[in-house]
Amino acid sequence: MPYRIRDGLIDYLEIMQIAGVSELGPPVLRDCVPVENIATEYNEMFAESSDNKNSDKKIENTEIINNPENQQPILEPVFIQSRESIPSKPTEESVQELPISMSMSKSKTDQLQELAQKVAQCTLCQELALTRKQTVFGVGNPDAQLVFLGEAPGADEDKQGEPFVGRAGMLLNDIIAKGMKIRREDVYICNILRCRPPGNRNPSPEEARCCKPFLDQTLEIIQPKYICCLGTIAAQNLLQSPNSIGSMRGKIFHYNNIKVVCTYHPAYLLRNPSAKKQTWEDIQLLMQEMGLAVR
Ligand code: SF4
Repeated sequence: MPYRIRDGLIDYLEIMQIAGVSELGPPVLRDCVPVENIATEYNEMFAESSDNKNSDKKIENTEIINNPENQQPILEPVFIQSRESIPSKPTEESVQELPISMSMSKSKTDQLQELAQKVAQCTLCQELALTRKQTVFGVGNPDAQLVFLGEAPGADEDKQGEPFVGRAGMLLNDIIAKGMKIRREDVYICNILRCRPPGNRNPSPEEARCCKPFLDQTLEIIQPKYICCLGTIAAQNLLQSPNSIGSMRGKIFHYNNIKVVCTYHPAYLLRNPSAKKQTWEDIQLLMQEMGLAVR
């Protein structure tokens, strides 16, 4: 039986459909689950399990269960019937045969909307899901060359459902419009997390890990050439670096062939206006990389 696993995410309903399971699980498991590692484990478990190596069983069903320790969902294979008709790993052919919910034939706008709908129903970080007013997906041009990446929604963003709309957002608008001489609508703006951490605390590593597939999917759809990380949390989580923003700024990094520049978060600049000079230097570096005239 063919099955499809997208990078980092598998559609929960898709699994249920493929698995032929009609009953939905508890709400926390609905809509999507991160299977960054589970996908590999799933196939390897099947291919290498001594119980199944010489067996004529095949994976024809899956079972999604709760992990009582951390409440993260676990995808378990259920071995039934003959294994002959199912590849141990998804092949290019099998993937192409499948219904692709985020088909490349759809416009980027449609793909982003589809992803945003999944995000809106995501409850992987239970505390955030319980305390958020709404998810904050991202905003801007789906064909943007440049993505600004922040940390997480704040109170204003949580209220309005759009990233960078408060005072820090106004400063970011100035950086984009007055500094770079481009329009906010020409770039794309999103955060490491799609939900507001209560009290504006920093995202936990686990929350950032859970939400990362959504960021990767967003970038995969938009295909930007440049990312500007705003602040320590964005830079550290995107580049998987423990370094401070102070040591990361002023340099060009790469993330999946996308050039990355890191600078201070606008909220930090509001508290420390003297750091605006360094941010302007970082933005000039970004503009040079983008071939924009620096005035
Ligand atoms: S922060 Fe991301 S992973 Fe966590 S609940 Fe919100 S959308 Fe889901």
